[in-house]
Amino acid sequence: MPIHLPSVDRRQFLTQSAAALAGVSMLRVGYAAPAAETITLALLSDTHIPENEKVESRGVNMTANLQAAIKEINALGGKPTAVLFNGDCAYLKGLPADYANFSQCLQPLLDAGQDLHMTMGNHDNIPAFYNALKSQQPEQPLVKSKHVSILETPHANVFLLDSLMTTNVVTGELGKAQLAWLSDALDARDDKPAIIMAHHTLEKNAPQVGKTISGIADTTDFLELMHAKPQVKAYVFGHSHVWSHTKEGDLNLINLPACAYVFNAEQPNGWTLARISKDGVEFELKAHDKEHKSHGEVFAVKWA
Ligand SMILES: [Zn+2]
Repeated sequence: MPIHLPSVDRRQFLTQSAAALAGVSMLRVGYAAPAAETITLALLSDTHIPENEKVESRGVNMTANLQAAIKEINALGGKPTAVLFNGDCAYLKGLPADYANFSQCLQPLLDAGQDLHMTMGNHDNIPAFYNALKSQQPEQPLVKSKHVSILETPHANVFLLDSLMTTNVVTGELGKAQLAWLSDALDARDDKPAIIMAHHTLEKNAPQVGKTISGIADTTDFLELMHAKPQVKAYVFGHSHVWSHTKEGDLNLINLPACAYVFNAEQPNGWTLARISKDGVEFELKAHDKEHKSHGEVFAVKWA
């Protein structure tokens, strides 16, 4: 069953463009709202959904965590323009059963008419993902063998990249073809700020001999590209199960928390509400634990 139902403005867009319901990887969203209005996106990362809803890891039931986040998203006063999942949707090996459970978890979002988009992490598997969530498969991929998409909003463009190299291998990679496409796609949209999102962390230090790279293997090329395009204001990623805001020169680095478990007990888990306006973008932490000291913390990125 197709799980990718359009929100109202997307439905209008699809009608206008006569595009098929499935397989659209470039979308204009949020244009139905008044021009001055803030666009909200619900961001979830590292959901790590297992094949069985009873499976726990590090003392956490990942299915229950995702269900709780989805309940909060559906209870928001204003419906988000889209809900984005930033990779490691599946638990470890990207199994068909993981995506069957994942897809079942998403049903309340679909029932509420939410527009859903995903990126791929190191624990995902594209064929299994497409098989379970058929409407996520583009008819014409923007980059061959990669799951990428662009959300054009009134205030900024959001580029969803694919850093999956090999399923269940920690290292990420964008690859020359995707970077070349990104460069062109950014050049074609240099009139608005750009937010770039992918699953993996950057890996700035040269890899040490005998050590596995945990971040993006081609970080040097990726960073060079982002710095060369002044409209790129933020890189948003997950993978490390850490909530943080740092800077790399003028570029803002936003690390989304895991929806599943944490690797460091001090870190919050939960999801993030992004508000995109004409002035910038704010990321607000919605921790699962409302008593966590970081719950409600806001990281602000200004366009200028
Ligand atoms: Zn990961």
